[in-house]
Amino acid sequence: MGKVPVIDLRDCTDCEACLELCPTVFRRSNETGQIEVVDLEDYPEEEIAEAIAMCPCDCIAWQEP
Ligand code: SF4
Repeated sequence: MGKVPVIDLRDCTDCEACLELCPTVFRRSNETGQIEVVDLEDYPEEEIAEAIAMCPCDCIAWQEP
C-alpha cells in the first residue's frame, strides 16, 4: 500500500476546507462528528497536496507505509 493522508485532530479547527476540496478522501465521521480520512486503495496525490496546502492548521500530512 502507498502512503496515506492522516489528520492531526488536535489541531483541526473543523473549517471543512478539506471536505470541500477533496470529498472523496475527507468526510465527517458519523460516529465521532470529526473529520476523517476515507479508506481508499489509492489516494489522489494532487488533490491531497492541495488540501495539505489549503488546511489553515497544517494538520493534514502524508503517512509513509
Ligand atoms: S482543512 Fe484542516 S483544519 Fe480544516 S477541517 Fe480539514 S483537517 Fe481540519
